Amino acid sequence: MPRPILATVHPEALQHNLNQARLRAPDARVWAVVKANAYGHGIERCFDALRGADGFAMIDLAEAERVRALDWRGPLLLLEGVFEPRDLELCSRLHLWHAVHCTEQIDWLAAHKTQVPHRVFLKLNSGMNRLGFTPTAFRAAWARLNALPQVEEISLMTHFSDADGPRGIAHQVAAFEAATADLPGERTLCNSAAILRHAQSPLRGEGVSTLAADWVREGIALYGGAPDYPEHTAADWGLQPTMTLSSRLIGAQQLQPADTVGYGSAFAAEVPMRIGVVACGYADGYPRHAPTGTPVLVNGVRTRTVGRVSMDMIAVDLSPLEAAGVAAGVGSEVVLWGVSPSTGAQLPVDEVARSAGTISYELLCAVAQRVHFG
Ligand SMILES: *Cc1c(COP(=O)(O)O)cnc(C)c1O
Repeated sequence: MPRPILATVHPEALQHNLNQARLRAPDARVWAVVKANAYGHGIERCFDALRGADGFAMIDLAEAERVRALDWRGPLLLLEGVFEPRDLELCSRLHLWHAVHCTEQIDWLAAHKTQVPHRVFLKLNSGMNRLGFTPTAFRAAWARLNALPQVEEISLMTHFSDADGPRGIAHQVAAFEAATADLPGERTLCNSAAILRHAQSPLRGEGVSTLAADWVREGIALYGGAPDYPEHTAADWGLQPTMTLSSRLIGAQQLQPADTVGYGSAFAAEVPMRIGVVACGYADGYPRHAPTGTPVLVNGVRTRTVGRVSMDMIAVDLSPLEAAGVAAGVGSEVVLWGVSPSTGAQLPVDEVARSAGTISYELLCAVAQRVHFG
């Protein structure tokens, strides 16, 4: 019998979330971003549900190969482009579209021998200062690419640093529009937060925004995370959880006042209480920084963790179950995030992430190899 911890992917929720993106950006084509193994869900596990996307975007060439191996003939985009010259051979062979964000990548293309001209996405650094050409260097980069026989079509992209927050995107949109004015080619700007918060907002008084006109790049919202939690919840955005991390109680203890729980005695009972011990720890990808009070569902009833997260176990307070008249003991169902299989109760991954001082992205991506998927 394997340990009872289990990750479950909900394909119908993936499909639903993809449809939500379509509703919010009806004129755009949608890249399903499947980097980091589809945000920890597993590319192969998500593929059928996401077939309705117009393309798949990723970072890793090996992930692009995996999507081609699933017989996807449509567009694939390498969001960071290639990492070394010989990567371009795979791009030619598998028809991968790729970002071009630095001079070196143009040099490599210029030296690349291919029968198949490439479609590239020239990236503007519109203010995030990670990847991309500065506005002053952008046109020269475009002209250089445009003169290469290895390049068939140039699209234009940028990435927002603050689509989820108060600074917003207007300054970056302005930089993009200035740098790309009168350049031909399709555009891609929006990530999930921009799709949800800004795609329908009129920029520069245009009435309907051109922001989401060509391609949008949807990641976390596909996977049921609210990019701007806690300002908005996933439910506010009409998103459904796509992953459930569940396990079972493998032990229980009756505590008396002053009894402590776990390493460092980080939790001490103030009143008599029963706790359960869950087969889930940081070696499963559960965040070690989750403090006492992090929400968890036991038999569908919401309660909290107590004490430190250890490698293979966490402890949970069973008092709310007793108060609700719900029995619990060894074998009881525990949901760390997602949907309770027995009751349908939900625990958004955003809430757990928030409690642990991180974001849903990190928790979803961190589900460990040793966790089986059901
Ligand atoms: C990861 C990524 C996205 C998707 O971001 P979400 O916030 O998950 O929607 C979009 N564009 C680029 C360039 C990315 O690297």
